[in-house]
Amino acid sequence: MPHCDEGDLALMALGEPARPSDAEHLSACAECQQRLDDLTALVRASRDVTSADLPQVPPALVWEGILEGIAEPASVTPLRTAAPASPRRGPRWLLLAAAAVLGVIVGGLGTALVVTRDAPAELIAQGELAPVGESPVTGTAAVQTSAAGETLTVSIPGLSSPGDGYYEVWMATPDTSTMVAIGTLNPGETATYTLPAGMSVTAYPVVDVSLEHFDGDNTHSATSIVRGTLQS
Ligand SMILES: [Zn+2]
Repeated sequence: MPHCDEGDLALMALGEPARPSDAEHLSACAECQQRLDDLTALVRASRDVTSADLPQVPPALVWEGILEGIAEPASVTPLRTAAPASPRRGPRWLLLAAAAVLGVIVGGLGTALVVTRDAPAELIAQGELAPVGESPVTGTAAVQTSAAGETLTVSIPGLSSPGDGYYEVWMATPDTSTMVAIGTLNPGETATYTLPAGMSVTAYPVVDVSLEHFDGDNTHSATSIVRGTLQS
């Protein structure tokens, strides 16, 4: 006996009674029963989809703008607003509904994946960077955490040209006895650095920006421009 028709399985998942031949086949075929169970689970999940989750049809003006903006308007068919579905219009409508349900679910999964990957980073510590010595500038620093790890973002508006040197961002222990070079900072940029995995902002809460020289010495020059302690 051949397997159940995919369309018939979709109808059954939507609540249509199984035809006797299908019911008999399902009782003996684990494969078809599994497909029906999967479809039924999808339909059940779709009951939780609200109208806000459905794709929105853009206003006519938007389509007119798109059509005007492309070279061959004849080749484009605008989306149409779906007519309100009457309660029962036969198997054809049910099949389309099943397809729409599956499309909404698959689309929803795609959205969820994208949202997860692009989930906004969570701010875990931030602070002001105050001038050190003669320096006239101030800045801000923040540590954020995301699926990709922790990052430090430093912004110092008005940072002047470093002359024949360059600026280096450091994170340090509260007594600044241990300093970790995080990266260089150019004037006018808001720089974001990926922090070494396992480095705790609690252990290294001090952010310091120093003026360094191209002298091959990779320790802190002792010329700090700004410094601040991040508050978690
Ligand atoms: Zn089968």
